[in-house]
Amino acid sequence: MKKQQLGKTGIEVGLLGLGTLTMSPMQRGLSVAAGAEVILHALAQGITFIDTAQMYGSYPQVAAALSQWKGPAPVVASKSAARAREAMQAAVAECLQQTGLSRVDVFLLHAVRDADDIAARRDALNYLREARENGLIGAVGASSHSARTIDLLAGTEGIEVLHPMYNRDGIGILDASLDEMTDILKRARARGIGIYAMKPLGGGHLRKDAAAALRWLFAAQVVDSAVVGMTSRDEVDMNVKLARDESVDEDFARRVAGRERRLFINTGICINCNACVKTCQQGALSPGEKSPVIDYARCVLCGYCAPGCPKFAIRIV
Ligand code: SF4
Ligand code: SF4
Repeated sequence: MKKQQLGKTGIEVGLLGLGTLTMSPMQRGLSVAAGAEVILHALAQGITFIDTAQMYGSYPQVAAALSQWKGPAPVVASKSAARAREAMQAAVAECLQQTGLSRVDVFLLHAVRDADDIAARRDALNYLREARENGLIGAVGASSHSARTIDLLAGTEGIEVLHPMYNRDGIGILDASLDEMTDILKRARARGIGIYAMKPLGGGHLRKDAAAALRWLFAAQVVDSAVVGMTSRDEVDMNVKLARDESVDEDFARRVAGRERRLFINTGICINCNACVKTCQQGALSPGEKSPVIDYARCVLCGYCAPGCPKFAIRIV
C-alpha cells in the first residue's frame, strides 16, 4: 500500500488506516478478542495506522491486538475532548496505560467546534505540546467536522496534524462546500500539516457505494491517509484492495456493505433532557414531544451525542 509522510511529523502512514469507532462499545460492540482479531488481520494485510479515541472505549481492543502483533509497530493515533490541562494529562495517561504503549504517535483535540472552542482548549493543547516535548506523544493535532474550524486550526501554533470530516459527497462537512473544504485542506497541507480524513464513507451514508467513494478519496491526493471503520476481515480485505487500486468483485462489495446502521434512542428510558440535541453538531437531533427527533439523513453516526446522555439511552444499532 502506498505510504505518505504525515505532514512534517516524520510519521509515515499508509493511504488507508483502521478506525476503531465502529468496532467499539459505542457501535458494534465487538468483544475485545473479536476487535483484536480484526485489527490483527488489518495489520497482516499491510495497514499500519490505527485510529482510536478516549471516547470510543476501544483501547482494550487495540491493546489486545498490539500485544499479539509480531511485526513492525503500527502508527497509533488517539484523541480526547478534554478541555482542562489536568483532564488532558489524565486522558494521555489513560491512553498509554490502557493501550500498553509507552508513547502514542499522534494525539488530537477531539471534535473541536469553533474559534471559541479552540480558545477554551488552550490549556489542553499546551499540555499536549509539553507531552510531545517529553516524548509521551509523537505529534499533536485536532479533529473537527467544521471546515472553518479546520482552517483556524491549521494556523494554530502547535497543531501538526488535522483530522477533518472529508468524503466524496461532502457529507457531514459543516459550514462549507466540499470544494471549499478541499481548498482549506490543500492550503493546510502546503503548510506541512499532516491530514487524515474521518468518515470517508460519510458515517455509513456512502456504504452502498463504498468502493467508488474510497477510490475517489485515494485518487484525490488531498489527504495523507483516511481511516475507515472496519469490523470484519471482509471489510479489511475490500478496503485494502481499494487502497492498492486493485479490482473488487461487485458481489463481494455488496456483501461487505451489509446492513444499514442507525442511531437509536430508547424512548422508554429517555427523560427528554435534550442534552444530546445540544451536543449534536450536525443538526440531526431536534426537541420532540417525548424524546428528541432524529433526522437520519443528517446523522453521520459520530457518536458524540451518546456519552453525555444521563440515561445511556442512545445507541447505534
Ligand atoms: S440525552 Fe439521553 S435522556 Fe436526554 S434527551 Fe437525549 S436521549 Fe433522552
Ligand atoms: S445524532 Fe449523534 S451520532 Fe448522529 S450526527 Fe448527531 S451527534 Fe453524531
